[in-house]
Amino acid sequence: MSNIYVVGSINMDLVQQVQSFPQPGETIHSVHSFYSPGGKGANQAVAAAKSGAETYMLGAVGSDAFADELTTSLMQKGVNIEQVLHKAGTSGVATITVDGSGQNHIILTAGANGELTSEDSQGWYGLFKKGSIVLFQNEIPWRTTQDTMKAVRQAGGYTIFNPAPAMPIPEEALPLIDLLVVNETEAEVISKRAAGTISAAKQAAETILETGVPRVILTLGEQGSLYMDQDGLSFVTPAYSVHAVDTTAAGDTFIGALAARLALTSQFKDWNEALAYASAAAALTVTRRGAQESIPTLQQIEAFIA
Ligand code: ATP
Repeated sequence: MSNIYVVGSINMDLVQQVQSFPQPGETIHSVHSFYSPGGKGANQAVAAAKSGAETYMLGAVGSDAFADELTTSLMQKGVNIEQVLHKAGTSGVATITVDGSGQNHIILTAGANGELTSEDSQGWYGLFKKGSIVLFQNEIPWRTTQDTMKAVRQAGGYTIFNPAPAMPIPEEALPLIDLLVVNETEAEVISKRAAGTISAAKQAAETILETGVPRVILTLGEQGSLYMDQDGLSFVTPAYSVHAVDTTAAGDTFIGALAARLALTSQFKDWNEALAYASAAAALTVTRRGAQESIPTLQQIEAFIA
């Protein structure tokens, strides 16, 4: 069985629900506010662990009051936190304001995530083995991500890259990616083509494969997802029809659950099955509020599919 390693961000999300956004200089009251653990890396790790995979978080928290809460929360959700580094200063923080119409403003403080250097990541290289599955996003310094991808490939591991927030992928990184997972915006930034419908997504995916990436998955919210690879396999996995109340962490759940399924069941042979599972996991997430607490377990996902 392959271990899953997630090299990425750990954030505290500070969420304020307001009736309407304040004007510059204005002070307003929130309708409701809460804080909860998030960060794309941590969310994906929680999704993989809740789907039953042996999952390690490779990232950093600060020395503030959030640090303990963030690592404890990961541990309680089944993620191994032995390799999480502690940096002086603040942990990653996302300040999220949501207005009455559901629009949001997000201010991201990279904190400890932004302090993760290539030298730090070298301490993790010994963990990677043949068959290790390693997930990357774009919320830590790019140089650290790229150098760690190289180390994973040298060890015979498998790299899954979710370039979020959206970024053009530097040419030298393209050969380091085994599977690219992008949403509509990310696909458009990389392919420089529209990707908002399944038919447009097919063209965008073809353009992405021309860069040399061997396989790509393009997610399109309630339209489902598209898989395409260099061997000519291409199929659409429809989204489940559910009553969505909060789409936060849909994409992260999809990726973490997919990685777990590839590690535990499909062994990279049955992409259809793994994607149907990921789609069910993400569908359940959008029926619940919040980030990590909305991510379902293996049992819940299997019961939903049955
Ligand atoms: P987010 O940034 O909100 O976490 P994302 O933009 O990275 O998400 P999406 O493409 O919106 O990713 O969603 C990922 C997958 O989650 C979709 O391919 C689909 O399977 C599932 N999904 C998302 N939204 C819905 C929905 N409203 N109903 C059912 N499934 C959904």
